[in-house]
Amino acid sequence: MRCSCQIAGRAGVPQRLVSFAIIAILAAGALLPVTGCGGGGSGVTTHDLAAPDPWEEGARGLGETYRGRVTAVGRWPQLTLPSPGELTIRCSPGLSPDHRLAVEEAAHDWEQATRGRVQFRLLADGEDSARADITVATANSLAPPGGGSAAGFSWMERDTGDAAPEGSILWARVLFVPAVSTTTGGGVRGVVRHELGHALGLGGHSPHSDDLMHESGTGAISRRDVRTLAALYRSSRG
Ligand SMILES: [Zn+2]
Repeated sequence: MRCSCQIAGRAGVPQRLVSFAIIAILAAGALLPVTGCGGGGSGVTTHDLAAPDPWEEGARGLGETYRGRVTAVGRWPQLTLPSPGELTIRCSPGLSPDHRLAVEEAAHDWEQATRGRVQFRLLADGEDSARADITVATANSLAPPGGGSAAGFSWMERDTGDAAPEGSILWARVLFVPAVSTTTGGGVRGVVRHELGHALGLGGHSPHSDDLMHESGTGAISRRDVRTLAALYRSSRG
């Protein structure tokens, strides 16, 4: 898949982050293998609960991460990790029931992979949408720099006046193109899962093709993905 992300300062002036605009493959061409799942919502993320907790490893600086390859876009103040934190998601009214289910499943994948440190709550239609942390909507097409078409796109606003080094994330928006998403191998669930990784603060991509946050990744959330996210929030605590 192709993925690009933008971040906006509080003043609302978009700043394109070059590190986010890493684009590797033609979405329809699938020139690189898409790992983890065969697409169409079959990308179930499974984590062996008997295995060492990757979140603990990352938080303690143990195990392999790609922390050096990702720049935090900011951090959610709600996620005062390691305590569990909750982010709300609003699905655009234009999303079909299938798409809404895919979003719900992608969010659940992160909850499962982080063993509940990150929790999402999908707002019901009519529920106070102004309070949504993350909004997910569809787009007819996305044209990233360099040409081609993207399957997903993330957009965030952060409070750059915050004491945190990269600022606090105020809100995030995730867009996906259904037609392109279904050609990437990961389906809508996989693309949204990847974009939620950016929305959680992972600003960049893993160099490892078997990680969800690889630039072509739409598969399972790897232990390395979880460790890296934990390391990101660990560093926010100094
Ligand atoms: Zn990406």
